[in-house]
Amino acid sequence: MQRFFLLLFSMKHSIIVGFGLAGLAFAEQLKRSNLSFSIIDSGRGGSSQIAAGIYNPTVLKRFSLAWNADVFHQYAMPFYSDLESKLKTQIVYPAQIHKIFNKRSEHNEWISASDTKKLAPFLDPKIHSNHDDSINATLGYGNVMSSGRVATNHLINSYKSFLNSDEFIEEEFDFKKLKYSDSSITYKDIQAKHIVFCEGFKMINNPFFKNLPLVGSKGEILIIKAPKLKSKAILKGPIFITPIGGDLYWAGATFERNDKTLRCTPKGREWVLNRIHKMISTEIEVIEHITQIRPTVQDRRPLLGTHPAYKNIHLLNGLGSRGVLAAPLLSEWLLDYIEGKSMLNSEVDISRFESYLRQTD
Ligand SMILES: Cc1cc2nc3c(=O)[nH]c(=O)nc-3n(C[C@H](O)[C@H](O)[C@H](O)COP(=O)(O)OP(=O)(O)OC[C@H]3O[C@@H](n4cnc5c(N)ncnc54)[C@H](O)[C@@H]3O)c2cc1C
Repeated sequence: MQRFFLLLFSMKHSIIVGFGLAGLAFAEQLKRSNLSFSIIDSGRGGSSQIAAGIYNPTVLKRFSLAWNADVFHQYAMPFYSDLESKLKTQIVYPAQIHKIFNKRSEHNEWISASDTKKLAPFLDPKIHSNHDDSINATLGYGNVMSSGRVATNHLINSYKSFLNSDEFIEEEFDFKKLKYSDSSITYKDIQAKHIVFCEGFKMINNPFFKNLPLVGSKGEILIIKAPKLKSKAILKGPIFITPIGGDLYWAGATFERNDKTLRCTPKGREWVLNRIHKMISTEIEVIEHITQIRPTVQDRRPLLGTHPAYKNIHLLNGLGSRGVLAAPLLSEWLLDYIEGKSMLNSEVDISRFESYLRQTD
C-alpha cells in the first residue's frame, strides 16, 4: 500500500520524447497546468534548431492565408511573449516581410488579397518602391505586417536552462526500455501516466507511429555575412533572407523531398547562393551551411492524438514548415484532449490515418 502511494506521488503526468518546438510547447502547457513531466531528448537537434523562425500567417506564393494561421497567430504571440517574461530574454523579433514582386500582375493580386477580411490584418495594400540599391526589387515590394522571427534555437536553450534537473534528460530514447499498461508508462526509472512523442522527422523510426504518412522535406540553408546589406526587414523573393543580428543573415531554404539525409550538398549550396544573388547585389561571405528535415505530412496537416491501441501513448508532430505559429495552440489542443476536456479537430487528429496505425509493419 505504502509503495503504491509512493509510486503515485512520484508519478509524472508525462514523458515527452523530443525537445524541439513541439516538445517545448507541450512542456510549457504542462507547466501552466501544474503538471509534472520529464523530457528525453538526444541533444542532436532537429528542425527547430536551424529554422529561420519566421512567423508569417500568409502564403506569399499565392497571396493567401496559411491553414488556420490567423487563429494560430492570435494564440502564439502572447504565448511567446509570456515565455520572454518567464525566461527573461528576448525571443521574438518583430519585422516586416518585404515580398519582392516578380511580375507587374502581382501588384493587382496583392491589392485584391489585402482587401479580403482574413488577409487585411497582415497585408499592407500599398505597393512600395524600392530605394535600397543593395536590394534587387525593380517592381517594388509589398509589406507583410504582424510578422517577424522567433529565435528558436535561443528559445530552446533558454527553456532548457530554466528546467529542473529531473525535467530534462539528454539521451537517445531507447524503445526497448519502455513498458506500458493502460494505467501507466515506465521508462527506466521514470513512471508517468502518459508518453507524448514530439520527435519531428525522426518519428519515422518510432515503432508506434512510423506508418503515418510523414513525408519530410529537407531544407538546406546558408548563414551569410553581408555588411553592406542594411535590411531590417525579412526579404522574400525566391527564398527568405532574414536578418539575424550584426551583419548576419539566414538565407534559404531548399525544399527537397527525395534526399532525406542530413548531408549538406554542393547542389543545395549553389541553389541558395543563386537566389541570394538574384535578390541582393552586395558582397556576401558564407559563414555556415546547414540542413535539417521539416516534419511535413502527406495532407499538409499536423499529426495529433492518441494511438488507437494504446490509450496513453500520444503524438504531437507534423508541424511542417510552420511550427513557430502552430506549436503553441496545437500543444494546448493535445493536452485538453488527453485530459478529456475537448475533442481534437478532425483535420489534425491522427485517427484520419487509423488504417496506417493499425498496420503491423
Ligand atoms: C530549413 C528550415 C527552415 C524552417 N523555417 C521555418 C520558419 O521560418 N518558420 C517556421 O514556423 N518553421 C520553420 N521551419 C519548420 C520548423 O522548423 C518545424 O515546423 C518545427 O521546428 C518542428 O518542430 P518539432 O519539435 O516537431 O521537431 P524538431 O525540431 O525536429 O524536434 C524534434 C526533437 O526530438 C529529438 N528526437 C527525435 N527522436 C528522438 C529520440 N528517439 N530520442 C531522443 N530525442 C529524439 C530530436 O533530436 C529533436 O531535438 C523550418 C524548417 C527547416 C528545416
